[in-house]
Amino acid sequence: MIQIKTLNHFNNLEFPFIAITDTTGQSIHKVPLCHTVTQDRFEEKVILNHCKNGKYFDVQSIEEAKQRWPRIKLCPYCFI
Ligand SMILES: [Zn+2]
Repeated sequence: MIQIKTLNHFNNLEFPFIAITDTTGQSIHKVPLCHTVTQDRFEEKVILNHCKNGKYFDVQSIEEAKQRWPRIKLCPYCFI
């Protein structure tokens, strides 16, 4: 798991999942990116707001994400 801090990393992910944390919880998405995971949202949360309300992570497996965030939600759009 690697925290995503740059647009270059966001656009060149190493692993097949992306986890997003925020004040209401955490969600995990499949790569290639789900339509709910956009560059605009990434830039707003990570670049403009300096991760104050949440972070993005490049994640190797769902199990890895569940170890860190036991209540992480599978995105209802890309996990169907
Ligand atoms: Zn998704």
